[in-house]
Amino acid sequence: MEKILNYIDGSLIEPVGKQYIDNYEPATGKVYAQIPDSDQQDIDLAVESAKRAFPKWKALSNDDRFRYLMRLAKLIEENIDELAAAESKDNGKPISLAKMIDIPRAASNFRFFATAILHFPSESYEMPSTAINYTLRHPLGVVGCISPWNLPLYLFTWKIAPALAAGNCVVAKPSEVTPMSAYLLSKLAIKAGFPKGVLNIVHGLGQKTGEAIVKHNDIKAISFTGGTQTGAKIASIAAPLFKKLSLELGGKNPNIIFADCDYDQMLKTTVLSSFSNQGQICLCGSRILVERSIFEKFKQDFVDKVKKLVVGDPNNNKTRIGAVVSKSHQEKILSYIKIAQDEGGKVLCGGHKINIEGRCGEGYFVAPTVIENLSQNCRTNQEEIFGPVVTIAPFDTDEDALSMANDTQYGLSATVWTNNLKRSTHFATHLETGIVWVNCWLLRDLRTPFGGIKNSGVGREGGFEALRFFTEPKNVCIKY
Ligand code: NAD
Repeated sequence: MEKILNYIDGSLIEPVGKQYIDNYEPATGKVYAQIPDSDQQDIDLAVESAKRAFPKWKALSNDDRFRYLMRLAKLIEENIDELAAAESKDNGKPISLAKMIDIPRAASNFRFFATAILHFPSESYEMPSTAINYTLRHPLGVVGCISPWNLPLYLFTWKIAPALAAGNCVVAKPSEVTPMSAYLLSKLAIKAGFPKGVLNIVHGLGQKTGEAIVKHNDIKAISFTGGTQTGAKIASIAAPLFKKLSLELGGKNPNIIFADCDYDQMLKTTVLSSFSNQGQICLCGSRILVERSIFEKFKQDFVDKVKKLVVGDPNNNKTRIGAVVSKSHQEKILSYIKIAQDEGGKVLCGGHKINIEGRCGEGYFVAPTVIENLSQNCRTNQEEIFGPVVTIAPFDTDEDALSMANDTQYGLSATVWTNNLKRSTHFATHLETGIVWVNCWLLRDLRTPFGGIKNSGVGREGGFEALRFFTEPKNVCIKY
């Protein structure tokens, strides 16, 4: 059975304590690899190595760092088949999705930040006839990156790439639920010739390995993506240590559909925004709000399309819905469907697990589920389920739609479907979210600020925002 290793000080090594955790393939329910159960000692080694590497890495020109990152991007692209297969096996997502979205985006993350650092400006303010102020932006030192299981390599590299580009050395931990692509990345970093200690990838459990990163005095910043409760725990540890914190957390995103929209485009995209990656994308629209005049038509058309989604073996290219990530997550999703029914919800399709014949007989599959008849303040509409489950509800006026959309503790993203320009700009202004899509979903330009408000997070990733996070500004004032 394959043993994943930590990548510390340029080498692939066993955890100091020699302890391992089982790694499951969600589509089969079988253990297929072992993950290091790393602890404080492993993090100490990684931090020491990163500290040793920092002076030289920081002193490189942006152009030199650009070359390392571009080499890694190219290696990811050259190994797309192996990486996509690994991501699909580890996560349960369709291999076609991993090949089309996850792995290409991981390569783009490195390419994007490799080039972004070449163009990263800093401010200067002149006080006429008196002085000139200019701002230096220096890397922070050793930084920690902690990522979740839903888009494993995609989100892992979204943090590592800007941290490295800005001149920091990194101690990173992927989710213990989906460690394989991060392990393969460490092998590619070795191939790319990264200097020892610049990037360290340590595997293990959140409360052990993750907390050891957050608590470490020599780690100057934490970039975290994951659940809101974990974010709160990390903030409670990191804030008194005055670490910089970027928290990308959960969501309960509204998808607001007006009768004046481009109906076919909306319908097609709404199936994707509800169920891509088994609904396990923080940006999936889980509360679908529909103008009453088209509610019945939408309901019928939407449910018809959802029933046709092929649920099955992620290795099959026809599969649109693979396995959810773990048995415990499958149980959580099913328990929320039960809660929805107890709250008076009517299940229009799905609502149960699915048994797939053959090699996936023991896998964790959930039928895509659409539920109606629920108020906005019930648990189903307030708590993040993070699976293939959406609710639909009608609304009468723009103001109703806006207040239903904003009636949540979360504020990550929202989608609005309308051809009315005035209405779309009104919603864009008043929706309490960090991201608004109008007549589209998940259309990403990596230069844009990415993140949420309310309980969906603090800070922004993406573009120069990420480079600002991973650097410390210092103002210099020179008197004439
Ligand atoms: P999680 O919070 O359980 O774990 C995320 C990461 O944090 C993992 O690597 C985990 O090991 C680590 N971790 C757990 N406890 C920790 C602790 N006490 N200290 C340090 N690290 C710890 O989240 P998950 O279940 O892996 O991912 C699903 C969640 O992520 C959902 O809530 C989803 O909305 C959110 N998410 C948000 C975004 C975004 O950009 N806002 C993107 C993707 C996923």
